[in-house]
Amino acid sequence: MTDAATRDIVSRLERRRDLPDEELLDLIANPAPELAEELAERAGAVRERIYGNAVYLRGLIEFTNYCENNCFYCGIRRGNQNIERYRLTEERILSCTDRGYALGFRTFVLQGGEDPGFPDERLCELVRTIRERHSDCAVTLSVGERERESYEAFYRAGAERYLLRHETACPAHYRKLHPESMSAEHRYNCLKILKNIGFQVGAGMMIGSPYQTPEDILKDLRFLQDLEPHMVGIGPFIPHKDTPFHDRPAGGLELTLRLLSILRLMMPKLLLPATTALGTIHPTGREMGLRAGANVIMPNLSPTDAREKYMLYDNKICTGEAAEKCFRCLEVRVKSAGCYISVNRGDAPDWTAR
Ligand code: SAM
Repeated sequence: MTDAATRDIVSRLERRRDLPDEELLDLIANPAPELAEELAERAGAVRERIYGNAVYLRGLIEFTNYCENNCFYCGIRRGNQNIERYRLTEERILSCTDRGYALGFRTFVLQGGEDPGFPDERLCELVRTIRERHSDCAVTLSVGERERESYEAFYRAGAERYLLRHETACPAHYRKLHPESMSAEHRYNCLKILKNIGFQVGAGMMIGSPYQTPEDILKDLRFLQDLEPHMVGIGPFIPHKDTPFHDRPAGGLELTLRLLSILRLMMPKLLLPATTALGTIHPTGREMGLRAGANVIMPNLSPTDAREKYMLYDNKICTGEAAEKCFRCLEVRVKSAGCYISVNRGDAPDWTAR
């Protein structure tokens, strides 16, 4: 692609928020640095127009690593016998939110494996307690696939956001990443239900997961356009030593950054995290993610002894430091990307609170 052609295709993507399949595929598969630069520049400007240079923080509390699922890529899969399983008590979870609150966090994300040790009522009680203690904070849940009644109960309890990556929009690809007992359709349907209930919803996928093709990524983009989630979490796949995909290569930095920019241009108001996985494959991956159009960071508020056990992939960063130290480090990183940390909840612009 010549410089002029690169500028033309990126500016058309920005104006129309879309491109024909062949051109999108070209952007996905084209590794030219000039293209990445043009995409990042335009995406950064779009993000700035909508959000200024604010970066929203979501304090992540990884409260259980028990999981009933056996996803081929994931370090906390049921079949992994080499990890020590844990569940945080309510007291420990609340002490994480209190500490996070004191640092300025106004969103808490409770994430865990699909753990029958946390049935709906236990989670609802936890959500209610957090909302009572910190009424100016949002609570996000990320606890996998449940039925509509469960999601409705979570919403009534005060959870207003839900993260559930669709993982891949191609059912054939989904089959290669998950055992027979799991179903792509069930997962996609959960996302529709969550949106229908009124949650701010986060979907997303790993980049460079085994067997993923550019055409699969194109399907992901079309799926996201159709679902219209409020947030999209994308980060590189990273192998974990005790999974069937232990010897697969990690997803690429450049492709992940290009996709962040493409998503920003296609869906300008998205909340887009610069993920921990991005920071794991490159020392300044998250800063590059912010420069490519991301506007959310999810620092870890879990107690340090739990972090070491919530290893979704090898060499995950920020597993040793206490929340305060992580926070200070992030402040510097965010600033170096030309942004600042916002202390408000960072709701999706089009979402109205109940
Ligand atoms: N159980 C919940 C669920 O299914 O959504 C939340 C926890 S799950 C571990 C969170 C996300 O971690 C998954 O959606 C997946 O995309 C990501 N993940 C798992 N293993 C990974 C790996 N090896 N590399 C990168 N991301 C991974």
